[in-house]
Amino acid sequence: MKPESHVHVIVIGGGAAGLAAAAAVEQAGLSCQLLEAQTRLGGRIRTVPLRSGGLFDEGAQMVNGDMHAVLGLASQAGLHLSPVPRTGIGLCLAGQNTRRFEDLISVGELHELLEEQVVRWDSPGEVLRALRLKLAWWNTPWESPGEAGRGLRLLVERRTAPKESLAAALRALLLEAEEHAMAYSHFSEILGAAPEDVHAQAVRDIFARYASERDDLEFQVAGGMIGIVDQLASELRHRPRLGAPVERIRTTGDRVEVIAAAGVWTADHAIVAVPPPAARRITFEMDNSDELAALLASFAAGAMIKTVLVFDRAFWRLKGFSGTALFADTPGLAVVDGSGDGPFPPRLTAFLGGPLARQWAVLSQEARHDLLLGRLSRVFGEAVGAPLEIGEAVWIDHPWSGGGYNATVRVGGDPDAVARLSAWGGRVRFAGAEVAGRFWGYVEGAIHSGRSVARQIAGTAGAGVFCETGSPRATSR
Ligand SMILES: Cc1cc2nc3c(=O)[nH]c(=O)nc-3n(C[C@H](O)[C@H](O)[C@H](O)COP(=O)(O)OP(=O)(O)OC[C@H]3O[C@@H](n4cnc5c(N)ncnc54)[C@H](O)[C@@H]3O)c2cc1C
Repeated sequence: MKPESHVHVIVIGGGAAGLAAAAAVEQAGLSCQLLEAQTRLGGRIRTVPLRSGGLFDEGAQMVNGDMHAVLGLASQAGLHLSPVPRTGIGLCLAGQNTRRFEDLISVGELHELLEEQVVRWDSPGEVLRALRLKLAWWNTPWESPGEAGRGLRLLVERRTAPKESLAAALRALLLEAEEHAMAYSHFSEILGAAPEDVHAQAVRDIFARYASERDDLEFQVAGGMIGIVDQLASELRHRPRLGAPVERIRTTGDRVEVIAAAGVWTADHAIVAVPPPAARRITFEMDNSDELAALLASFAAGAMIKTVLVFDRAFWRLKGFSGTALFADTPGLAVVDGSGDGPFPPRLTAFLGGPLARQWAVLSQEARHDLLLGRLSRVFGEAVGAPLEIGEAVWIDHPWSGGGYNATVRVGGDPDAVARLSAWGGRVRFAGAEVAGRFWGYVEGAIHSGRSVARQIAGTAGAGVFCETGSPRATSR
């Protein structure tokens, strides 16, 4: 097939990362063609209207005050940021008990403990600690073995369980049963996977890349996160090609050939801004394609069902509840008050991540909603059973993203896959939320990653160097 055209850079994928990369490439004075598989831009950002008024962000929705790339784009586009309502009591359902969040371990504390645990997992001090607990166990009454008993179990598990999993690291924290169940549920939700299947070392790296002391759920973009996509797209000089899934990328000497059903393009460089599970569907023909295949295979796609429940009034607030809830007995289920500050009716937004999401996904939508409403009514009461409207987005085995929220490194994968893929050099480079050096797994991270790869290429191409303000400046080279 005759090449459509030759450009400096081809960007594959029109999500936040690809759009940011393409805009940055063009701002550096290089020519660029973006190819997107779907007939729309945005990837895991997609905003749809609700019957009851307002919009539903089926994918990304929230940002915090340290996510400067997203905030900058919102400000350029004149978008209003609406605070996520968080006042009131957050709840955790464990067995028959509904506990206040504040009476349990905080998520921040949990992340810190886990980080320490992964670091010391193999240290002699850790083994000694477990042995000391075992000795203490002999002097502990049988009816209340407490931490010592759990220490003994840990010692046994250290010999039997695959120690690299997040589940093993969580057990090693010796949390109380309810706290452990809560932690397990929390990680199933944020990773969209069972902690048994996720690499603990990789999770620690994800925390390290969260470049903020603030909660991630501070603001939502009024008018939907799609406003950020529109702003990024408006910065492009050359129109993206939609409905052009890339099938093959081949490096030949001094150029890259990118092959899609829609045509063939050649370029000096390609930026693959496609999540690793989707990138596995592309055939790479280059020197180190075996090594690349192993890296891409290290990631497992997350499974996530996001549901919005619209109500005529925020009845949970009348009870003093914030709307935040985590279900320790339904691993992976969490709820937040997703109401905006506009004229539209209030809403709760539920996230179900991990294996349970996969189980629920094969049920009928009606059965799924009944299950969800049943769970929520145990925390918020019967009023939850009469929503004005339910909207739902199932991010499981999605053809172009793999799933949601993101793909994480699985047990058995290369724990350094994120770092190695983001440092992948040569004519074909990788960008996206999954390889982001800052704010891994967020829209902010995707934008940051796209811009940073574009900067590297602009540097090697000797073009104008992209600066954060967005305008190119001449390079001294
Ligand atoms: C339900 C849900 C809620 C979320 N909530 C938040 C949140 O509140 N805040 C936040 O910051 N983040 C959130 N995220 C995460 C965030 O959406 C993603 O991390 C981010 O949007 C990823 O951007 P990306 O550009 O890296 O990848 P994507 O958005 O997945 O973009 C990749 C693009 O590549 C295209 N593509 C794939 N294969 C090919 C191919 N072969 N050829 C051409 N194109 C291809 C896809 O169609 C897609 O458009 C959420 C995600 C989900 C699913």
